[in-house]
Amino acid sequence: MPLAPPMHRIVFLGPPGAGKGTQAAELAKVLGIPHISTGDLLRAAVAQHTPLGIEADGYMRAGKLVPDDLVLRMLQERLRSPDARSGYLLDGFPRTLVQAEALTGFAPIDRVVSFEIPESVLMERLTQRRSCPNCGAVYNLVTQPPRVAGTCDKCGGTLVGRPDDRPEPVYTRLQTYHRQTAPLLEHYARLGLLSRIDAQGSREAVSERIRKAVA
Ligand code: AMP
Repeated sequence: MPLAPPMHRIVFLGPPGAGKGTQAAELAKVLGIPHISTGDLLRAAVAQHTPLGIEADGYMRAGKLVPDDLVLRMLQERLRSPDARSGYLLDGFPRTLVQAEALTGFAPIDRVVSFEIPESVLMERLTQRRSCPNCGAVYNLVTQPPRVAGTCDKCGGTLVGRPDDRPEPVYTRLQTYHRQTAPLLEHYARLGLLSRIDAQGSREAVSERIRKAVA
């Protein structure tokens, strides 16, 4: 009987600006699993003015977490899609112990990758970040600028800064991370699921460390 392909049910954990989104998009493609970013799902809901988006908008602008019950309902629905049957890469979820505990009830996790990076690097990365609303490509004005200022290399879209990448919400997001999300590191370490990787260095170097962690 042929062996079933290995399941990949992965969580990327780390502070905002650690590079989770970029790495998640790449790894998900390699493994053939969906990249599920709760931040992207929430931004889409805000853009479409759905009831969830209208409720989430204020929290997101301020850099605060959207209430657990809203995010949990949204994620549960996303995981019911057929593409998530053979694995998933969760980016930006869970962010609280309540979310982590709820997740065990509806979606098993095989590996949690923690992106480790000094705080000093994060503030600059976030405030210099620009992204393309058209295709989702992400740039950094200092370390990875687009070829033509303000224009996406991949699709020609006009690059924008996220409203929550301004200094004040960035500060709140980092504080929120330390207070509410960092305790998850110990939680997953206790379960034997945690791999810590150095998230500094080139995109290729970081991606290599991640592949070893999830192999
Ligand atoms: P991100 O793109 O992951 O940085 O998320 C952007 C914003 O969306 C966060 O600052 C929160 O306001 C909200 N958000 C994303 N994921 C979650 C989550 N798992 N729980 C609560 N709020 C979230």
